[in-house]
Amino acid sequence: MKPRIAKSGIAEICCRNISQYLMVLLLPLVVVGGCYWPKIGFTVVGLIALFMIITSRRGRFYCGWLCPMGAFHERILSLFSRKQAIPAFFKTPWFRWGIFVVMMTFMSSRLLVAWSSADALGNVFRTMWMVSVSLAIALGLYFKPRTWCTICPMGLLQGVSSSNTYLLSVDESCIECGKCEKVCPISTYPGAFRVAGGIGQVPSGECLRCSNCIVNCPKDALSFRDLIIDQ
Ligand code: SF4
Ligand code: SF4
Repeated sequence: MKPRIAKSGIAEICCRNISQYLMVLLLPLVVVGGCYWPKIGFTVVGLIALFMIITSRRGRFYCGWLCPMGAFHERILSLFSRKQAIPAFFKTPWFRWGIFVVMMTFMSSRLLVAWSSADALGNVFRTMWMVSVSLAIALGLYFKPRTWCTICPMGLLQGVSSSNTYLLSVDESCIECGKCEKVCPISTYPGAFRVAGGIGQVPSGECLRCSNCIVNCPKDALSFRDLIIDQ
């Protein structure tokens, strides 16, 4: 039976849809527009500043609601994706930090060369975006559309720098049915964090705050709360 979705959940889904369809427009604007006006690449720096502000209060909310790449994967790439399971090792710290170091080293070396020209700097940020989008498309066509988001260096940065606020929490009414994992864009399984006699919480970096699981949970077992220390 299809689970009931609360009216507030429907409103949230609509808001997120609108937000993602608007943000996805930034992708062609920067990638194509950068051919004619390289400084538009600094949009990427603006987006990094935006997510650093949001991260302090809402964790990876930017990933779930505002990231142009994430929106592209979820709204457009998903139409062509084979949606195979995301390999488990993608979520391991050594793999994620390995990707982070490689990407940051590549970007830093290019920034050093381009340092004296604003156009060249803008072009570096645009190129980094194009490299990321290319890798993300390759992964998303075979695996789940947002597979890149499990290894994205910016997502990792948000995960480690976010405070323990607005964490996805699982209460005792969870029956571990697995529905939440199926609807999660990055295959996180909140039911696995259920704690008998208390409230379990999903680590900040493993949740995009998209609310898909909350509105689809048949037991209303999920909600966002700040870190609960004493149970
Ligand atoms: S949190 Fe909800 S959807 Fe997820 S396993 Fe528990 S009951 Fe099922
Ligand atoms: S765990 Fe839930 S809120 Fe977090 S990303 Fe997955 S579906 Fe969205």
